[in-house]
Amino acid sequence: MTNFFDLSGKVAVVTGANTGIGQAIALALAEAGADIAAVGRTPAEDTVAKARALGRRAEIVSADLSTIEPLGRVIEETVAKLGGLHILVNNAGIIRRADAVDFTEEDWDAVIDTNLKSVFFLCQAAGRHMIANGGGKVINIASMLTFQGGIRVPSYTASKSGIGGLTKLLANEWAAKGINVNAIAPGYIATNNTAALQADEARNKSILDRIPAGRWGDPSDLGGAAVFLASRAADYVQGHILAVDGGWLAR
Ligand code: NDP
Repeated sequence: MTNFFDLSGKVAVVTGANTGIGQAIALALAEAGADIAAVGRTPAEDTVAKARALGRRAEIVSADLSTIEPLGRVIEETVAKLGGLHILVNNAGIIRRADAVDFTEEDWDAVIDTNLKSVFFLCQAAGRHMIANGGGKVINIASMLTFQGGIRVPSYTASKSGIGGLTKLLANEWAAKGINVNAIAPGYIATNNTAALQADEARNKSILDRIPAGRWGDPSDLGGAAVFLASRAADYVQGHILAVDGGWLAR
């Protein structure tokens, strides 16, 4: 029987792979057979060790994604170390919270540069390589705030709805070049990023009451969606934003 989800022989770049959702996705891709370039500021030593323990090749690629300068190098270094590039997962992201009337330019720029500008230029660098080498898969990590407004997170909402539009634009431009561009919109996932919300008893209760599944998502809940979108099972899936949210958006 055909294994639609076998990623053997594929090389995946995952940004923000040292922790949280990025680490879980990197390890799910490795379990499915992919070799991993773990990109980020904090060296993803644990992720690389675990991927190697699964029998994959795995390398750390150091880069601060808040500027576009290192993005071309990330792709070049991956190809040099692992011999190719077939899957790009744009996962790294930050959030800043303040009322819209008080929001600073610094908090606007920091989030837009990290969450949106780097995603586009990393897609561009990876896309150039993939177009020249027979195609590939791009997976952008969006959010429920790709679809909803949220509150007190203006730059985050702008960045994540921007990722939704960008995913569709790149899918349009690259579908005929053998590249699938899709996104995953996680719901409330228990990571460092959401630790303060989990620790706030009242906030935590109101979040849990609103999630049909009745629980926070675990980073590993994102792994299967990423493997699907990275695999040949998704060869005809284009510009889709796949919610993995315990039913949040369905409510
Ligand atoms: P974490 O805060 O746990 O991890 C964020 C990752 O991004 C870290 O690896 C971090 O690396 C990396 N990163 C941040 N800034 C930079 C930078 N300038 N350069 C390189 N790497 C950077 O977050 P999550 O795992 O929760 O989130 C991952 C993605 O999922 C984000 O895009 C987030 O917006 C999205 N998401 C998360 C949800 C959730 O509920 N957790 C919900 C919806 C979307 P370092 O340690 O070096 O800073």
